[in-house]
Amino acid sequence: MTVSESGTSALDVDTDDERVAGLVDLVTVADGTTDTIPVEAPFDGEQVGAIPACGEADVDVAVERAREAQQSWADRSIAEREEVLSRFQDLVLDRQSELLDVVQLETGKARRTAFEEVQSCALTAGYYSHRGERFLGREKRKGVVPGMTQVEVNHTPVGVAGLISPWNYPFELALSDALPALLAGNAVVLKPAEQTSFTALKGKQLLEEAGLPADLFQVVTGRGPDVGPAMTDRVDYVGFTGSTETGRIVGEQAGRNLLKYSLELGGKNPALVFPDADLDRAVEGLVHGSFSNAGQLCISIERCYVHEDVYDEFLERFVAATENVELGTGYDFEAEVGSLVSEEQLEKVTEHVEDAKARGATVHTGGEPRPDVGPYFFEPTILTDVEMDMDLCCEETFGPVVSVYPFSDTDEAIAEANDTDYGLNASVWTGDTEFGREVARQIRAGTVNVNEAYAAAYSSIDAPMGGMKDSGVGRRHGPEGVKKYTEPQTVAVQKGQGMAPPDGVPYWLYAKVTTGALKLFDKVPGLR
Ligand code: ADP
Repeated sequence: MTVSESGTSALDVDTDDERVAGLVDLVTVADGTTDTIPVEAPFDGEQVGAIPACGEADVDVAVERAREAQQSWADRSIAEREEVLSRFQDLVLDRQSELLDVVQLETGKARRTAFEEVQSCALTAGYYSHRGERFLGREKRKGVVPGMTQVEVNHTPVGVAGLISPWNYPFELALSDALPALLAGNAVVLKPAEQTSFTALKGKQLLEEAGLPADLFQVVTGRGPDVGPAMTDRVDYVGFTGSTETGRIVGEQAGRNLLKYSLELGGKNPALVFPDADLDRAVEGLVHGSFSNAGQLCISIERCYVHEDVYDEFLERFVAATENVELGTGYDFEAEVGSLVSEEQLEKVTEHVEDAKARGATVHTGGEPRPDVGPYFFEPTILTDVEMDMDLCCEETFGPVVSVYPFSDTDEAIAEANDTDYGLNASVWTGDTEFGREVARQIRAGTVNVNEAYAAAYSSIDAPMGGMKDSGVGRRHGPEGVKKYTEPQTVAVQKGQGMAPPDGVPYWLYAKVTTGALKLFDKVPGLR
């Protein structure tokens, strides 16, 4: 196999759309790759351009180049790597309008939602750019024999991290996981979702402008089954965000290869509204939490359990507020909710709602597609009388659809919230935050927001984010989110006597002295 000098093949797939023109040149493509995948703008269903449909040969080139570039990157000081993240944060904030255009173009989301992801990525870059030494610097640990065994832990990079990202938050979920991997001294090979690869390429462009060596961050575009497995066979770590179904495939392959991995998967996230909740805030928060990004958000709320004392009032206000949600296709901040990403997604959401309607669910607002706004728009929808036999009761809908249920006591509400295979996010609304904390501890979800739907926990980058149960393995954000890209290496330096009886000392005496020392160490706080 030969690779052209420029790193791209003779593929001629560039587009006239100036928002994304030239970006396709940043894809790593081996000579011989000719297949392409069209990219569509969901706002009008028109084709925007095309991306290379890469395969094994392209992944091979990308990983090889990444591996080579990683050597010298790992030799750079942590401070130098932090500087790149810091400059990237500035570029993301300064050039946000370019970014928002591309994100909206490919996803059809409202600009407000696009801003949320750009903001979140900037937060992540800023957070890690000040904590490299703290999380990755050499750590002293306690040696077994005080004064004689000196122990330190080195956080060495895994090597090449392969990341597979979804289309729903294409900037945030492609870049925010790459940043800590890079900070830890790794190279990254990214496989973005086929629908939203231009956004990821825009991220690569900005990283390079921020000073990242070009080969360190490789983007291989294409279909999941063509690129994902080839990547998982070649990299040293795989990080996946997407559906639980595909996550299982990636996890199985990672397991066979004994790869370290993390998976952030689906959710069927509950909100619990208690009678002492501030209903104005709860309604506002849950409209945002259920319909933001047209519900195509793994941490969005799809089930609302409301105490019977406030159920009628909550439902009435929730429906009224939802009816005021503005849908739109504008490249400005006016619309609150945008389009679904594709015809396939529209079909899935429509099927869930139609199935629920046919089986007796009540539609309080919405319930229909909105082709008058755009080809894949669906109305924000509130349902009640949703039963276990309906697809949307337990399966993730990933659309602007929320079911509301009454409850009469706290244990029942917690049991309902936990009655799911998922465990990603949950939301608790109450005037008593201590009670809210107590309820949160009983919910099996990786993040629980009290008096917020999802953003308080997700945006608190210092704290881990990820799923319990079928919602995932591993965490992003915080120290966990960067240490996962390292191999901890323990170095122990033994001074004087080794870990065996000194010459001439019988073993029985050594055992006796050691036993006494163990007892003493346990009793003296400074020696424990
Ligand atoms: P969706 O069904 O919403 O597209 P997926 O979980 O299938 O969600 O997609 C998330 C990411 O996983 C995308 O980048 C997709 O191309 C990729 N993907 C799909 N199938 C596979 C696979 N078999 N192995 C690895 N990655 C895959």
